[in-house]
Amino acid sequence: MMDFAIPDKPHDESRQGEALMLEPKGQNDRKLYIESYGCAMNFSDSEIVASILADKGFETTGDYNNADVIFINTCSIRENAEQRVRNRLKEFTIAKVKNPGLVVGVLGCMAERLKSKFLEEEKLVDVVVGPDAYRDLPNLIDKVDDGQKAVNVLLSREETYADINPVRLNSNGINAFVSIMRGCDNMCSFCVVPFTRGRERSREPQSIVKECADLFSQGYREVTLLGQNVDSYKWGGAGRDAEGDQKSEVGSQKSEDGGQNSEVVNFANLLEMVALIHPDLRVRFSTSHPKDITDEVLYTMKKYDNICNYIHLPVQSGNSRILDLMNRTYDREWYKNRIDAIRRIIPECGISTDVITGFCSETDEEHQETLSMMDYVKYDYAYMFMYSERPGTLAAKRYADDIPEPVKSSRLKQVVAKQQAHSYERLQAQLGKVQRVLIEGFSKKSDKDYCGRNDQNAMVVFPVDESYKPGQYVNVLVERTTTATLIGSVVVD
Ligand code: SAM
Ligand code: SF4
Repeated sequence: MMDFAIPDKPHDESRQGEALMLEPKGQNDRKLYIESYGCAMNFSDSEIVASILADKGFETTGDYNNADVIFINTCSIRENAEQRVRNRLKEFTIAKVKNPGLVVGVLGCMAERLKSKFLEEEKLVDVVVGPDAYRDLPNLIDKVDDGQKAVNVLLSREETYADINPVRLNSNGINAFVSIMRGCDNMCSFCVVPFTRGRERSREPQSIVKECADLFSQGYREVTLLGQNVDSYKWGGAGRDAEGDQKSEVGSQKSEDGGQNSEVVNFANLLEMVALIHPDLRVRFSTSHPKDITDEVLYTMKKYDNICNYIHLPVQSGNSRILDLMNRTYDREWYKNRIDAIRRIIPECGISTDVITGFCSETDEEHQETLSMMDYVKYDYAYMFMYSERPGTLAAKRYADDIPEPVKSSRLKQVVAKQQAHSYERLQAQLGKVQRVLIEGFSKKSDKDYCGRNDQNAMVVFPVDESYKPGQYVNVLVERTTTATLIGSVVVD
């Protein structure tokens, strides 16, 4: 199965399977090896896991052969994501033979989906832990040390890990992910996330602002606020009084019920609260849902220069019948209306998307409507996938996965070709313009060049100049482009 990403959103595809490391803290002489797959949320969760175990004195290692505990934080979104994890698990077999005391744990979405069945299917595995049960990890490891297998896949309606200060693993010290909510209450018919990550819940806003402010004071200059549907972020209102006591005056509004202690913080309010930390702290967010993104959010983006002009707005399909089958709860006209609103309020906004080809019963004419939607929007980037049926989802129960693989694949190729042309066109439109770039480090190809992103999230490469260093902002004149990168040189005002 093929997946394509052109070129990247805040999450870096090259990090799939990366081992995560942190400074040793303590007394425990056991070593943890943890690697992550899937979305940015999973990478962020691994930082929470590492933090919980660091408090128990665990050190991290980048070599699983030296580890006492191996954790693999998994993704279930498509079948190939799960297959990748199963293949990886096989590679740990020899390590386990050499060290019978080695604890092998599976975390995240695949653990939640398969539960104790995982222990039957993969004999190597000792611990299975779902995304809401990471606080229990030290107990679960103790249980395995006592010779038992351990499973905790309880989902929670409250857990947001708000009080856990995530360690930043393999960080460049400049960009960080900050989780603002967990779970998802949408029931897109193709998607396994509501089953693996549970009900949607928002994190208390002051803990988010504090985490972002702490990151800024440590030298970080960009935060990406993460959630499956950030536009439905909501804190406060009736029933949230205790935590609500600490809420900031900035950006909050009275809830409609007018009750006491019932100020509501919505996503636009939260964005404003984070943007106000410091003008030099860039704010990004992902993912927006077309049904929920409001003009209020767009006007907040317009109001603050440090909220980046970039929106990831997954369309999935350009055809209203398919969108209805997908249970996306918007149609083609609604999506176009949201795009028009973005272009009207923030004309220079970068827009990216996710597309699924070959969903159940999709005709060629309906697929053409996805292509014509791409022509309408001219996305800067896209993540493009063939439909992969996931057990237990609404689509798996209701609809036949009846589009043959070669048709799915040929439609995907058309989508990819169109996106490549649009990405190039969007980059070309930046030629001759001066862009504000946050320097992230040396470019992948040469330490004579720096790289960093512009406001719209495009990667910009330019020659190193000793007067600047990573973490600083520079103005770069764009002189040429490759298919995925802007190339230029620094201009001084
Ligand atoms: N919450 C985000 C949203 O609604 O846009 C997306 C979350 S999901 C982790 C990322 C993307 O994976 C989706 O937007 C969709 O394009 C893709 N995806 C999810 N389930 C899929 C499936 N069964 N087959 C193919 N792609 C899928
Ligand atoms: Fe999945 Fe839809 Fe929720 Fe996104 S909004 S995580 S696609 S159910």
